[in-house]
Amino acid sequence: MKLIQHFISGKIYSGDSKREGEIFNPATGEISAKVKLATATDVKAAITNAKNAFDSWSNTPPLQRARIMFKFKELIEKNSDELTKIIVSEHGKVYDDARGSLTRGLEVVEYACGIPQILKGEFTENVGTDVDSWSVRQPLGVCAGITPFNFPAMVPMWMFPMAIACGNTFVLKPSEKDPSCSMRLAELLKDAGLPDGVFNVINGDKEAVDELISNKDVVAISFVGSTPIAKYIYENCAKNEKRVQALGGAKNHCVVMPDCDLDQAVNGLMGAAYGSAGERCMAQSVAVAVGDVGDKLVSKLAKKVESLKIGPGMDKKSEMGPLVTKEHLAKVRGYVDIGEKEGAKLVVDGRNLKLQGYEKGYYIGGCLFDHVNKDMRIYKEEIFGPVLSVVRAKDFNQALKLVNDHEFGNGVSIFTRDGDAGRTFSNKAKIGMVGINIPIPVPMAFHSFGGWKRSLFGDQHMHGPEGVRFYTKLKTITSRWPSGLRSDPEFVMPTMK
Ligand code: NAD
Repeated sequence: MKLIQHFISGKIYSGDSKREGEIFNPATGEISAKVKLATATDVKAAITNAKNAFDSWSNTPPLQRARIMFKFKELIEKNSDELTKIIVSEHGKVYDDARGSLTRGLEVVEYACGIPQILKGEFTENVGTDVDSWSVRQPLGVCAGITPFNFPAMVPMWMFPMAIACGNTFVLKPSEKDPSCSMRLAELLKDAGLPDGVFNVINGDKEAVDELISNKDVVAISFVGSTPIAKYIYENCAKNEKRVQALGGAKNHCVVMPDCDLDQAVNGLMGAAYGSAGERCMAQSVAVAVGDVGDKLVSKLAKKVESLKIGPGMDKKSEMGPLVTKEHLAKVRGYVDIGEKEGAKLVVDGRNLKLQGYEKGYYIGGCLFDHVNKDMRIYKEEIFGPVLSVVRAKDFNQALKLVNDHEFGNGVSIFTRDGDAGRTFSNKAKIGMVGINIPIPVPMAFHSFGGWKRSLFGDQHMHGPEGVRFYTKLKTITSRWPSGLRSDPEFVMPTMK
């Protein structure tokens, strides 16, 4: 049985842990590998190596760092089929979707290739007579990333290309459910010429995470995962004086206005609610039907949900793959039971789907609820599966209030032909990422990704300009060179002379 270990200082590292986790192929339910779950000592080894590599790497000119990123980009492209298959085999999502998520990660690498331009500072000649002042952004030190199962390539790549390009060294702790992609990316970075110790992968669970967030040599933590863990990471990093960005869960609404192009909205919702089996932090799990559009919307959706093509991720015909684990499948089924008990109308029930030849895979059919209300658990909580809830709202204001009253604030969309409604909605929604006639408004790599409210603890979003701010600190230098001018000591606040 394949054993996935750690990657420290350019080499596979076995460590001293006796604990192991199991990796499953969600399409078949078979165990495909085991993964070592690091001890605190293993994590310390990764941090020490990253710390030792920092001096030299942070002094490597940005242009040389960029050249390694260019090479890394080429290697990802060259190996994209293999990387995509790794994602499919451990996460379960369908091949083209997995490939798309890899591309979104690759785009962050492309942005990081521009680091010499991005890191150019600011300069003012003569802030005072013969005095110049300039600001630079310097790297922080050892940074760490802790990532969820649902995007085994893209989410780590939101973090480490930016951190490394900015001159930091990095320790990544990927999800213990699908760690192989991170290990392969570490090998490709080494092949691209990255010096040993700059990028390290430590596999593990809470024990590894607790060492990362308490170790004094780690200066910044990027986290993406569920809200309770994001809050735990945020609080403990603050207590341990670390910089932190902790992205959490979501419940993304799609507001369907009566004037919209309904077929466009339905197609958008289908991809956003059922793509990747709903295991996306930007998945749309609530459709808010405004005015009289509800009945038409539900009938069009129901037909499409019933005919979703569900199957293994490697089958080109599959539109939706399995869920990631048996436990997650049980949780999602449990939510559908809860929704029925709460009195929502279950229009399409996917709970009993069985696929011939894949009876042990973690499949569930698409589920569609109508007449969901704001007090139901299936509305309030993140299900993270292919379950779409339709809520009826009498008008635009009631729909906007629903969106704004929800505890999460990751993404939201509105489908409308009315510019006034679109403009007002994007202005008033208390949500980090807003789409107007766009179902999944994930910002491109040169913008930044992040939610509001309980979808993000911390101040800075991921990648793009916010990523650069997160992974650097500002220094302002003011200088005067002897020019024959001499002054006596001054005891008042310096002002421009
Ligand atoms: P999770 O919170 O269970 O795990 C995330 C990471 O935290 C993993 O690396 C895991 O090992 C670690 N972890 C888990 N329990 C821990 C504990 N008790 N103490 C310390 N560390 C712990 O999340 P998941 O199930 O892997 O991913 C799904 C969640 O991630 C969903 O809630 C989804 O919305 C969220 N997500 C959010 C975004 C975003 O951008 N906001 C993106 C992707 C996923």
